[in-house]
Amino acid sequence: MRVKFICESCGDIEFDGENYQCPICNVSLTKLGFIDGHKLMCMNGKERIQWLENKLGHPISEEMINRRREYYKKQDEEEQRRLEEEREAYERRARQSTRSLSGRINVPKCPVCGSTSLKKITLTTRAVKTAAFGTIGAIDDAGKTYKCENCGSKF
Ligand SMILES: [Zn+2]
Ligand SMILES: [Zn+2]
Repeated sequence: MRVKFICESCGDIEFDGENYQCPICNVSLTKLGFIDGHKLMCMNGKERIQWLENKLGHPISEEMINRRREYYKKQDEEEQRRLEEEREAYERRARQSTRSLSGRINVPKCPVCGSTSLKKITLTTRAVKTAAFGTIGAIDDAGKTYKCENCGSKF
C-alpha cells in the first residue's frame, strides 16, 4: 500500500482515489507519484509534514494540523462508540437467546402435587443413603432423579 493523495493544506493522506477532497479542509488533494507515495508510507506524521513543507516550499499551518488531529480524534471516538454499541447489541442478543433457551427447557414438575420445587437426587446423595440406611435406601432411590420438596415423593 502506498499513499496516493495528499492534502497540501493540512498534510492529510489518502490511500484511495475515491475521495478527491480532503475530508478536513474540503480542498482538492494532490496526486502523488509512486516513489513519493512509498516514501510517505514510511514516515510518521511529523516527518510527513516536514517533507510536505519542503516540497511545497511553505509551512503547513499549525491550525490546520490541529484541525486534522481533531478530525481523526473525533473519528476515533465515533469508532469507539460504534464498537461499544455493537458490543452492547451483541450482549443484548446473547441475553435474549439465553432467556428464550431457558424458556424452552421443560421445567420438571412433581407428578404427584405438581410442585416445581424439586431436589435432584445426586449420586452422592444415593451413596450417602446407601451408607446410612443400607441397601433399602439405595433401592428406594434407584432410577429416580428427583425428590419433591413439597410432598416428598421421588420419581
Ligand atoms: Zn486537508
Ligand atoms: Zn410433590
